[in-house]
Amino acid sequence: MDKLTPSQRSALMSRIRGKDTMPERLVRSAAHRLGLRFSLHRKDLRGSPDIVFSKHRTVIFVHGCFWHRHVGCRRSSIPASRKSFWRAKLAGNVRRDVEAAAALRALGWRVVVIWECEAKDPKKLRLRLKRLFRAALTAKRKIGSEP
Ligand SMILES: [Zn+2]
Repeated sequence: MDKLTPSQRSALMSRIRGKDTMPERLVRSAAHRLGLRFSLHRKDLRGSPDIVFSKHRTVIFVHGCFWHRHVGCRRSSIPASRKSFWRAKLAGNVRRDVEAAAALRALGWRVVVIWECEAKDPKKLRLRLKRLFRAALTAKRKIGSEP
């Protein structure tokens, strides 16, 4: 299945892994269109969450399905070569995710993960965000302060 050589694959992965990823931009623009205010990559918060909605005490991590092991997702299959290397590396990512989420929850943050494959489905993404911020969005409509 894996047609890439290990070095091709790691070059590809390091590009995907960059901080300002495409799925993340999709989530940001969907949130923006809903009129939600947020900040990005707050370094003062554990795990430096991708999108932070301070007013709603909510953080969103937009996770790549491969790097963060989206369970049952076809994008998360382990490369055929160097399987044990990848297993160890990816297990470390998952452990750090779990620790960051626990630390944030302990401080009263609502921690949300949006997977790369969800971010790429505009309808699903919009619905997900609407549900997450339902109370806030409803209040806003009533006040009518936003266009
Ligand atoms: Zn996925």
